[in-house]
Amino acid sequence: IVKYEQITKSFGELEVIKGIDLDIYPGEKIALIGPSGSGKTTLGRLLMTLEEPTGGTIELDGELLWHMEVKGKRVRASEKHLHRMRGKVGMIFQHFNLFPHLNVLRNVTMAPHCVLGLSKEEARERAVTMLRKVGLEEKLEVYPSQLSGGQKQRVAIARALVMQPKVMVFDEVTSALDPELVGEVLEVIKEIAAEDDMAMLLITHEMEFAREVSDRVIFGAEGRIVEQGTPEEIFENPQSERLQSFLGRFR
Ligand code: ATP
Repeated sequence: IVKYEQITKSFGELEVIKGIDLDIYPGEKIALIGPSGSGKTTLGRLLMTLEEPTGGTIELDGELLWHMEVKGKRVRASEKHLHRMRGKVGMIFQHFNLFPHLNVLRNVTMAPHCVLGLSKEEARERAVTMLRKVGLEEKLEVYPSQLSGGQKQRVAIARALVMQPKVMVFDEVTSALDPELVGEVLEVIKEIAAEDDMAMLLITHEMEFAREVSDRVIFGAEGRIVEQGTPEEIFENPQSERLQSFLGRFR
């Protein structure tokens, strides 16, 4: 469903992604682990079209993401093309970015109504289903300021799910939470991963969670993929010294 090919990304002089090839298969759950600053978030943001690659191509659902063909020539994508492609990806961030002036239900119905053009009733129906899924059906009328961090993050998850993306990027979604709230959010993600057939790219520092939730674990460092494999291979039998030393910090 996603194909990164020879992707590079620089911010000024700083090369953050140094040539990444990565295929994500439909429905696949990938955990992306690695030291701080290794470019994990940037990899997700490229897919969400929040950053443009410096080099290489990204294919999403069979089409080029950042380019399009016009009269047989490859040109930079138009805003219209980017907008359409963006609809296939959902991203959840460390900070929940809810609309503070809208209640929970409106936070979730806004995009399906305004962007997908669903009727108010359809959008509500879909939103309520998703809010039930994340265990918040009791909180429809409540405003974000009245929610705990874990609940806010669950609203953010429902808001992304309601758009029915083909791929969902979870970017360290628990790292801004108090420790006692981390579990409830990880549980919800695990349930979604088990039930849903969308592909998921899970950027995380929670190694136990990565192991339980993913089909494949990718270890990146300094803008490159250093090692990848099944959770068993990565956590039980790490090959490279870098991965061994990285995992050693969590033991
Ligand atoms: P963490 O685990 O700490 O979130 P990460 O692996 O997700 O790290 P990125 O957030 O992708 O890493 O950042 C990689 C590098 O790119 C960092 O050195 C960061 O400072 C730099 N960087 C990211 N975005 C920008 C930007 N917009 N402008 C300049 N530098 C940036």
